[in-house]
Amino acid sequence: MYSVDEALARILEIFSPLPTERVRLEDAYGRILAEPVQAAHDLPPFPNSALDGYAVRAAEVAAAKAETPVRLPVSGDIPAGSLPAMPLPSQTAMRIMTGAPLPEGADAVVPVEQTDDAPSRFEVNSTLPESVLIRAAVGVGNGVRQGGEDVRQGAVVLRAGRRLRAADVGILAGLGVAQVPVVRRPVVAVLSTGDELLPPHMPLMAGKIHDMNSVALCALVQAVGGVARFMGIAADSVEAVYSRLEAAADADMIVSTAGVSVGTLDVVKEAVTRRGTLSLWRVNMRPGKPLAFGDFGGVPFFGLPGNPVSALVTFDVFVRPALQKLLGIPTDAAPQRTAEVGEVLHSDGRRTYARVKLTRQAERLIAFSTGTQSSGAISSLVNADGLLIIPEGMTEVPIGTRLPVRLFDQDM
Ligand code: AMP
Ligand code: MG
Repeated sequence: MYSVDEALARILEIFSPLPTERVRLEDAYGRILAEPVQAAHDLPPFPNSALDGYAVRAAEVAAAKAETPVRLPVSGDIPAGSLPAMPLPSQTAMRIMTGAPLPEGADAVVPVEQTDDAPSRFEVNSTLPESVLIRAAVGVGNGVRQGGEDVRQGAVVLRAGRRLRAADVGILAGLGVAQVPVVRRPVVAVLSTGDELLPPHMPLMAGKIHDMNSVALCALVQAVGGVARFMGIAADSVEAVYSRLEAAADADMIVSTAGVSVGTLDVVKEAVTRRGTLSLWRVNMRPGKPLAFGDFGGVPFFGLPGNPVSALVTFDVFVRPALQKLLGIPTDAAPQRTAEVGEVLHSDGRRTYARVKLTRQAERLIAFSTGTQSSGAISSLVNADGLLIIPEGMTEVPIGTRLPVRLFDQDM
């Protein structure tokens, strides 16, 4: 029997990162950046005004106060998107809008509110006053956003391996990156097996149940960053399983559920080994003791247990890290916290992933069982905030024991 860690190490050995592809920036959100991105230019690219006002030389309005305002002739108008017609002549001011380039010679912008001009008149093509009354002094640099103050040309703004967030695609846009190098997404073929299974849209019939695993596993594949391809429900026959595997043989990975417990392995095993290899591993964990792993036509194959909780937990423990390795990101990326056990919990000595609800008491996180811990009871996962990991060999967990919890974000 393998420990969880041994089994995982053996699995991860065979995976390495997928190649890079270039996608349009609009499609890059959520993808894994494959190469670092360096700024091709400063951001902002040029010094510009941070507000609507008048560009001046700070020294020329140093004496301005409400009681002793300084009047300057207005020598130009600079709407956003245009260029100043000339450098700022001395002893003048230029009307400037937010985001417009600062004229050469100017070193500050007086907010329109500190002048006798009105914000309401501040629009493109409005008449330019001949002169403006400045009612307050400004410091050098006030009201100015310097070129490169956000990002310097040449700076590494994003590192390889980052899952691109909304602000990330924003900065890429700001730097003119329209094609983004990302790691190709792993395509995962997901297959349910079992004569008792019906798709969710079909009415329930006596002796049958709806297939829960495939839709949930497809969701987990997407949550990690893969592309899920549902291969349908295969009946418990070698032919049915084999033909679905054939259709999946161009995927990066095949994940099937059920038919891997000792009594039921034969069908899946025979179908897989027609074009590949399969070992049934007994892994020292609960839920999910049997785990089949091998390949079909060279495509890594995971045979997960059929019970929904076992299927989802074994996916989380073994398949998710494999996908993360394909994506070139850390394989321990699931968020973990430490929690105190709020009630006595029991285990049979296998490493146990107990479904728990977490409550916060001051700074402490307290974990309570979600009730039935049957590996068939998917509600135990639905009601859980995470999986409390009880280590191998611990059969009774006293109240107050501090243990790691794998937290669910939006994923499980
Ligand atoms: P098996 O590994 O085929 O013995 O299945 C173990 C248990 O999981 C049985 O109770 C099955 O009915 C159940 N099961 C298998 N596949 C699914 C599925 N896709 N959705 C829900 N339950 C399933
Ligand atoms: Mg079955």
